[in-house]
Amino acid sequence: MKTIVDKILLSNRVAIVTGGHSGIGRGIAEALSQAGAKIVIVGRRTDLGNKVAQEITETNGVDALFIHADITKPEDIEKIVTETMNKFGKIDILVNNAGICHHEDAETVNYENWRKVMDVNLDGLFFLSQAVGKVMIGQKSGSIINISSISDSLVMTPQTQTGYNASKSGVDMVTKCLAYEWAKYNIRVNAISPGYIKSDIWPKIVRADGKSCTEIWLEKIPAGRFGLPEEIGAMALFMASDMASYMTGAVVNIDGGYALT
Ligand code: NAD
Repeated sequence: MKTIVDKILLSNRVAIVTGGHSGIGRGIAEALSQAGAKIVIVGRRTDLGNKVAQEITETNGVDALFIHADITKPEDIEKIVTETMNKFGKIDILVNNAGICHHEDAETVNYENWRKVMDVNLDGLFFLSQAVGKVMIGQKSGSIINISSISDSLVMTPQTQTGYNASKSGVDMVTKCLAYEWAKYNIRVNAISPGYIKSDIWPKIVRADGKSCTEIWLEKIPAGRFGLPEEIGAMALFMASDMASYMTGAVVNIDGGYALT
């Protein structure tokens, strides 16, 4: 019989992680592969993607594959599913981590910049979930994890990012709708809302008084420090695993207490 501790293991599971070659996605790919999952990294940076896939195989002893794809393109979404199925024959876990941010005041942001953010963060996430969901429905099992943000419900400052914040609110609602619709197929859908986690996505805005964004943010975090990609990876591992077998439709903050104040 499986013990509660055994239930965290992902031996022979197949996990797709979008944007898994950098930042939070890399932390998630590491966590899932350390628990035994085979990893498919999806992204647009071929050299880095192949390098990270190779490192994961060498370090964690699991198969890892890089697929060059842009999740805003329908043909690339098809390619992600086809190449994963050709190589591994199933998809157990999808982590929708890829995301972009655009900082501009609401009165000046143009249609194109608004669309770019929505295309990646919301439309890409939904249509990849739909394509992978069809495979999972056929399998009658699966776990989808969406990377949202605490800006799903908070206006983060001093940066201005209406489109990003709105896209992350949308991610939460997509999470809940898919969780509801697909529970009958034994597919669980959950989301993680990170606070500030050290990564490339951070803005390099410096305010007029010389204080950087990071200095301003740090003052607002009760834990007194920024988060690490591995701390998001730990929650993704839990959500992906059988430990979370009764968890679906949840959106979990991991933010050092930022959203409390
Ligand atoms: P990051 O820039 O390192 O990661 C984003 C990844 O998405 C990159 O690998 C990028 O190549 C990939 N990507 C972007 N557009 C893509 C597309 N069209 N197709 C395929 N891949 C694409 O930054 P990160 O901080 O690691 O961000 C990961 C996720 O975490 C994002 O969804 C972000 O919104 C979210 N998030 C980050 C923070 C933070 O403080 N770092 C906080 C809250 C939420």
